[in-house]
Amino acid sequence: MDLILLGPPGSGKGTQAKKMVERYHVPQISTGDILRAAVKEKTRLGVEAKQYMDQGRLVPDEVVVGIVRDRLKAPDCTGGFILDGFPRTVPQAEALGATLQAMHRGIDHVLSIEVDKEELLKRLGGRRTCRSCGAMFHLIFDPPKKEGVCDTCGGELYQRADDQEKTIRARLKVYDEQTAPLIAYYREKGLLRAIDGVGGVEEIFRKIVKAIEE
Ligand code: AMP
Repeated sequence: MDLILLGPPGSGKGTQAKKMVERYHVPQISTGDILRAAVKEKTRLGVEAKQYMDQGRLVPDEVVVGIVRDRLKAPDCTGGFILDGFPRTVPQAEALGATLQAMHRGIDHVLSIEVDKEELLKRLGGRRTCRSCGAMFHLIFDPPKKEGVCDTCGGELYQRADDQEKTIRARLKVYDEQTAPLIAYYREKGLLRAIDGVGGVEEIFRKIVKAIEE
């Protein structure tokens, strides 16, 4: 099952990807998570990526394409994968298509999770992330038991630089300009399935399962 999860920042791609990993036993490949890990470790990639990420801009295509190309070669991707946050531009989608073709495989489904802008702003502004384990909470929808403290590991919760209001608006603009064209791109290929992303996590997951399995 080779699958892409498409959707604006805050649409719940990461949350749904994790549930899909449990059900389908294929890995989640989140370029955002890979880049954040590199930033944390201060590798050369991380140092380069950070300047783009903090401003809500996209990391250059050749950098992320290289990351994904390597990741897809790992043995755990043999039975499929869930791409979360990649591709984000048409050139990335084209590079992915070429890579998969060379591996004699191809995308089975592209699920586009749809959420309107007002809802996205509300969701992203309240997001808090654990500095130690990366778990995510939300001040309104999923608050931690103790303010500022991670329920899972006791680590400190913080607001990612790219979850601050100014950066959120920049990220949504980048999505509209550079990523939203992928909806038409994959629709033309007959791969796109739109999923209404407003509602509870379980409700949205049911819609995803139905889209994949029917
Ligand atoms: P995310 O967690 O998916 O929202 O990603 C966080 C940030 O990482 C984005 O705002 C970008 O700066 C960068 N990033 C993640 N995935 C990509 C990608 N496919 N192409 C370019 N930049 C990316």
